[in-house]
Amino acid sequence: MDIKKLVKPNIRSLRAYQAEEIPCRIKLDANESPYSAVSGQRSAISFQKHLQALNRYPDPQAASLRKLMAKELQVTPQNILHGNGSDELIYNLIAVFGGPVLYPVPTFSMYGIISQALGERKIEIPLDDRFDLDASGFIKTIKRRNPKLIFLSSPNNPTGNCFSEDRILKIIRQSKGLVIVDEAYQPFSEKMSFIPFMKKHKNLVILRTLSKIGLAGLRVGFVIADADIINELNKVRLPFNVNSLSQKVASEALQNKKQLRSDIRLIISERKRLFKELAGMAGVVTYPSDANFIFFKVDNGERIYRNLLQKGILIRSMKGVADGCLRVTVGTPKENAAFLRILKQIL
Ligand code: PMP
Repeated sequence: MDIKKLVKPNIRSLRAYQAEEIPCRIKLDANESPYSAVSGQRSAISFQKHLQALNRYPDPQAASLRKLMAKELQVTPQNILHGNGSDELIYNLIAVFGGPVLYPVPTFSMYGIISQALGERKIEIPLDDRFDLDASGFIKTIKRRNPKLIFLSSPNNPTGNCFSEDRILKIIRQSKGLVIVDEAYQPFSEKMSFIPFMKKHKNLVILRTLSKIGLAGLRVGFVIADADIINELNKVRLPFNVNSLSQKVASEALQNKKQLRSDIRLIISERKRLFKELAGMAGVVTYPSDANFIFFKVDNGERIYRNLLQKGILIRSMKGVADGCLRVTVGTPKENAAFLRILKQIL
């Protein structure tokens, strides 16, 4: 029996997401935080307590977690839905509203992958030469194709920059569909969040995640939107999508804001140092970053990627996305120093 013949055509041509574990000494490839948001002793004690309660299903509404996140973002719990990572919420958005799905390139690959997995049409518009949105290209495409969903990762992964506020607003105003501003990296940016604009624009949806601020292994993300949109998304959400340990640990982390904030501050100051050092190296072109990673260009990026890996340092090669470009996640001061030292040697 040929299983392939049973598979839907849009899935047949899809390849599984490449997220293999590459052995390394210093891991700077996946935009994770180098610090766990719950590494203290208090967490270990309450963790034991939560293990005792694992015979029960999790709270399907994740009520206390949503309440905490709502307070943090100054919205109401009715405006928030929880996901098993924000990946799952991207999936839910596309499942509920369908395509065409419009986004700039290069950007976070899951917008395209999930659109294809769900058999929805996707439209890609290249970023301009400053990695900003091609506003007139977007407006023309919005008028011609009327996309149901527009995904804007700002700060953008992998380029690191925020898109200009006026271009995003122009797109929100012109669009008859939903505009999702994916703020996975917003905590590292000095620019304003788009959450306050939700009051005026009902079609504006925000994505947030705990993955970049010290809890990638937990798988917790949030969508923030008008209550009518949340209600539609809630129809396709699986009832127990965020497990009880994740709910408890995430709540604990959100209550320990001091720790979260100081880790974020340290990552931002290291990013600035890393940027300055990279920018000063001959043969390296760096791009400004509002995120916890830096996008840069070198001659023969692939070779440098491989040489770094031979020395135990894993970063991300952008081969096939932006040839010759590399993306390095900000690590601990020690990890960043090792990366800089070895890169200098290779160059
Ligand atoms: N959005 C963007 C822009 C990302 O870069 C990522 C992670 N790489 C995600 C969403 C997904 O994050 P998670 O599923 O871990 O919440």
